[in-house]
Amino acid sequence: MKKVTCPNCSNYGSPPTMEESMSLFDLEEEADLEGVKKIGAFRQRGQIEGKPIWVCNQCDAGLWIKIFGKPKLIIGSDLQGLKEDWESGTGTDF
Ligand SMILES: [Zn+2]
Repeated sequence: MKKVTCPNCSNYGSPPTMEESMSLFDLEEEADLEGVKKIGAFRQRGQIEGKPIWVCNQCDAGLWIKIFGKPKLIIGSDLQGLKEDWESGTGTDF
């Protein structure tokens, strides 16, 4: 998986792999939700124009992941809009 650096806080890495995400489903029933959320440097939160949105687990900034070039930082009202779409669409925390 591609790794990126957060333009906001320099956090570096990638979201959990599919295998890690699947194993989290089992873990979630056993509590420690905070620990589960922090696996991986980023979490995946939907997409724009077919490109994934990752949210930084360190500073909660949104990153729009391009195939080429640096990720675009998503903050302020744009990030708020993504958050509302995600939460109303999935029923889970952004
Ligand atoms: Zn960050």
